[in-house]
Amino acid sequence: MADVDQELQLAKLRVEELRSDINFHDYRYHVLDQPEVSDGEYDELVRELRKLEERYPQLITPDSPTQRVGGEPVAAFGIVEHPVPLLSLGNAFGEEELRAWHKRAAGLAEKERFDLVCEPKIDGLAVALEYREGQFAVGSTRGDGRRGENITQNLLTIKTIPQNLSGRGLPSRFEVRGEVFMTKGGFEKMNEQRAEQGEPLFANPRNSAAGAVRQLDPSITAQRPLDCFIYALGWAEGGTTPTGHLKTLQWLGKLGFQINPHIEKYRTIDEVWKNCQTWVERRDTLDYEIDGVVIKIDDLALQKRLGVVGRDPRWAVAFKFPPTQRTTVLIDIAINVGRTGSINPFAVLEPVNIGGTTVKMATLHNEDDIKRKDVRIGDTVIVQRAGDVIPQVVGPVLSKRTGKEKRFRPPRKCPSCKTSLVRPEGEVMRYCMNPACPAQAFRRMEHFVSRGAMDIDGVGEQLSLTLMQEGLIKDPADLYTLTKGQLLELDRMGEKSAQNVINAIDASRTRPLSRVLFALGIRHVGAETASLLAEHFGSIEALMGASADELAAVSTIGPVVAASVHTYFQEKQNRALIQKLQSGGVRMKTAAPATKDGPLSGQSFVISGTLAAFSRPEAETRIRSLGGSTSSSLTKKTDVLVVGESPGSKLEKAQRYETKILDDEAFMALLRQHGAD
Ligand SMILES: [Zn+2]
Repeated sequence: MADVDQELQLAKLRVEELRSDINFHDYRYHVLDQPEVSDGEYDELVRELRKLEERYPQLITPDSPTQRVGGEPVAAFGIVEHPVPLLSLGNAFGEEELRAWHKRAAGLAEKERFDLVCEPKIDGLAVALEYREGQFAVGSTRGDGRRGENITQNLLTIKTIPQNLSGRGLPSRFEVRGEVFMTKGGFEKMNEQRAEQGEPLFANPRNSAAGAVRQLDPSITAQRPLDCFIYALGWAEGGTTPTGHLKTLQWLGKLGFQINPHIEKYRTIDEVWKNCQTWVERRDTLDYEIDGVVIKIDDLALQKRLGVVGRDPRWAVAFKFPPTQRTTVLIDIAINVGRTGSINPFAVLEPVNIGGTTVKMATLHNEDDIKRKDVRIGDTVIVQRAGDVIPQVVGPVLSKRTGKEKRFRPPRKCPSCKTSLVRPEGEVMRYCMNPACPAQAFRRMEHFVSRGAMDIDGVGEQLSLTLMQEGLIKDPADLYTLTKGQLLELDRMGEKSAQNVINAIDASRTRPLSRVLFALGIRHVGAETASLLAEHFGSIEALMGASADELAAVSTIGPVVAASVHTYFQEKQNRALIQKLQSGGVRMKTAAPATKDGPLSGQSFVISGTLAAFSRPEAETRIRSLGGSTSSSLTKKTDVLVVGESPGSKLEKAQRYETKILDDEAFMALLRQHGAD
């Protein structure tokens, strides 16, 4: 008995040590951007911790790093579902794109003139604050737009967020949206104090603000100089709210919310463009960082009418400032073979700090681009970084040329399999067309196991490569027939690690269909398209059987994507791969399967027009998850017609048939009532 206790005590000490190490490295990596250990070493620490927690579940705490999942809200905070999604904004880089946005909006609005509101775009962390009966009730992060993390306790520490509101006609429940940020002054002062105390310094205000808001310990958040501007009303129930965006902000300002003082209303796009240019020059005069200007249509009814395309509202756009540029030396031009066989040249650079991030590599797009820009190896080049985009080489600094620079000679053969490269007519890329090319197979594998795809922890770049080199796997489906014995034959693979790999592979068998589709690496199918396809078709069989026309009929899926998906599933080896994955135990379930006996059982629904909060397949999935059935054509037997913006002829038909009609809000209320919003 004493031995068992002692073992547990030792495990506890080690667990605490590991957690503190992992948190330290997370901080170096995510906040400071100065990692101290390799990804492999980091993974090893996480693996050891996970193993100990498996053995001693009583040691698991909600704040353990193992409880975090990449990209998804951290469960330890608690999840908040956003009744109305927090949308992202489309970007406009430059005048042309800004005017194009306006022209499109004007076309849809069927008028040239409508008021536009310009707001400095704060570079911070988006949050949603819900008030009930005038009390601040729940605060959350944006998360993936639908689900965020509950950070109420942390937001309570921000003094510019009011806790109690009073006012006549205050809605009984409503949500405001804002941006949490750190002022430049507050940031510098904080770093000075940290320097005095010998603590590591933060890299920039944005990361510090984001890190502070997502602390599991609110007392740490409270020590950070955070601030918050409110920029929109998310939704409201029970009460009247203004009909214009600017009026809404002024009303919120009177209620006690902090509204940015530089918000202006204009009548024409010329005036808006002038405002954007002013901010390009004046951005440094502000005590907080801005990375652009947000332009919104003021009329809320018109906003609603224009609706949303994909994830971007049509009634707003983010004008982004020109990117940050620096010069450095181009050491070499190297080649990377993509998973579709494309030959991608990239720049190997002398490391340079651009806007707080160290850049060592940059994209060079393709050989024509290199030729056009006349970029030569050894040149001093201008490198730019804009937002989250991969850094790129703008061009050479000709005055720095010495004559010793070398021109880039595009490869004629695949650097991996030595097959002669092909450049299809009209394309700018060369391709390795060898289906058995090891580099392509490796890239596909790497993508398959990555986070966001099948997320097979423990099978990273290194192990994928080894397994392929050793001939243990040829394609992703082979992972599901790997045995522990095979793994143990590999160098430096112990009993413990082998079991971890097997467990991780096993866990990936339950990834939903959307993840599997993304993991397959079908050309043009990113994570969002994958979930759209999964939601719409509901099963891999239905998707594989869909014609190109049926695919193109899914809203927001264009003909190019449809053709790519269709072609992919027509190929014999791809169908064989799916089959092999299924017999390997990969389930490919949809996230919200239809329920036979739900609250909407026996009722048939048809949706017409554009809904504010969901795409049609998303809305249909929700109906089916509650047991209802959905159809695209309205008949006398249809029970309910849900109407969004511009419903078309179905509305008339439904009135004639006396079908029950729900508008957007009533439909949302119905979903909310059954917890499916
Ligand atoms: Zn090749």
